[in-house]
Amino acid sequence: MTAVTKNKSYEGIVEDYTHEGMGIVKIDGYPVFLPDVLKGEKVEYKAVKVNSRYAFGKVTHVITPSANRRTPPCEYYFQCGGCQIQVMDDQAQADFKKQVVNQNINQQAGLDLKINDTVSGHPLYYRNKSQIPVQKIDGQVVMGFYKPRSHDIVNIEHCYIQKDVHNDIMLFIKDKLIEEETSIYDEKSHQGLLRHIAIRSNSDDSEIQVVFITNGKRNEFLSIVKALKEAYPNVKSIVQNINDEKTNVIFGKRSIVLLGHDFITDTLLGQSFKIRDRSFYQVNHAQTEKLYQIGLDMADLSGDETIIDTYSGIGTIGLAASDRVKKIIGIEVVDSAVEDAKENAKLNGIDNADYYLGKAEEVMPQLVKEGVSADVVFVDPPRKGCHNEFLDSLIKVNPEKIVYISCNPSTLQRDMKYLSENGFKATEVTPVDLFPQTKHIEAVTVLKRT
Ligand code: SAH
Repeated sequence: MTAVTKNKSYEGIVEDYTHEGMGIVKIDGYPVFLPDVLKGEKVEYKAVKVNSRYAFGKVTHVITPSANRRTPPCEYYFQCGGCQIQVMDDQAQADFKKQVVNQNINQQAGLDLKINDTVSGHPLYYRNKSQIPVQKIDGQVVMGFYKPRSHDIVNIEHCYIQKDVHNDIMLFIKDKLIEEETSIYDEKSHQGLLRHIAIRSNSDDSEIQVVFITNGKRNEFLSIVKALKEAYPNVKSIVQNINDEKTNVIFGKRSIVLLGHDFITDTLLGQSFKIRDRSFYQVNHAQTEKLYQIGLDMADLSGDETIIDTYSGIGTIGLAASDRVKKIIGIEVVDSAVEDAKENAKLNGIDNADYYLGKAEEVMPQLVKEGVSADVVFVDPPRKGCHNEFLDSLIKVNPEKIVYISCNPSTLQRDMKYLSENGFKATEVTPVDLFPQTKHIEAVTVLKRT
């Protein structure tokens, strides 16, 4: 017997948040998860999905709204899967993110650390990369973002978290696609040409890249390329990326340049970076600079250090530290990113950086065998966090400091717990909001050798 019955109404007070940004109300300890509520609110809800351990509910009435509740700025918010927490004002979003980091670090891992206030800012029009699926529904071209847990598109004319020039270009391209009757890809039959449009721009939008991601290499874009070039002189790069696989992965392996180069250039913490269409680059420029600056301050470099920049991508973190270190060693698994990192080092006149291509969990043990030592190791893994083999070799390298940047508090707490059981201790963790309006949480910490 569960504490709640499907379709029945209940009242409760929101006690806490899940890491997905849902509110938790409890009935005799049994949790019910509710979207679009704030901590402290008294709500009436209906149980919509019930199992033996928890239920999901739908709010029917907010009885006592929080002072931090607001009307979502975006008219598509309740259909679109892109944002999850637009009903929270900026302060409530910051509190939610701090709270989730606290739950992970102090409750889950029991580390007893200070969690600093979330470093917030730039809540709207921040995404420098937009990946927009294109479909044809009942003969109409639709472009926008997916509904939650589906591949149905919400037809969007204006997104509040992507850069506004991306909104303009998105609508411009849509008109052209209609005019040119461009062939659009159909997921079910695996027929048709255009799958996605990707738009990426640098921090001041002085360089913009547009990518047509297509099923096959047929080029139907010549007149759109010409029109884009005329209407948007800052579009410096147009690329066709070919993805003819039946897959959810957006980019394929091959790109053809249609205009300019296959990259744009951005400046981050004073260094220049070439970014190619498929390379990873943080989506929120201003907040990323804050994040990396906090990480660099934590590293407190003097100029004599050897650092290892693991999960280095196109080299951003290590190169941002380049004027305060003796040597940089980078490790990254994507070959084009390693090429980019090497080129970015050159571009900035840096000759003390070496990059290794491979998995961190394979390269790091190899470096240990070769007797490599380092003073500071930067760790910036994807959501799944670090492999044990990587952590074991990191412990063997025995750096003075480990600066860990994480996009997932749950793997951060797991890895920090392991490191703290093996001689590395942190005192504080700082959440930095790289993804306002969404449930995603970034955090940075430094662990010091004890
Ligand atoms: N530090 C970079 C990139 C961080 S994203 C920046 O801030 O821009 C994480 C990076 O880890 C990606 O570039 C991804 O390709 C890489 N990666 C993922 N799994 C890896 C692994 N097992 N070993 C090494 N790199 C990996």
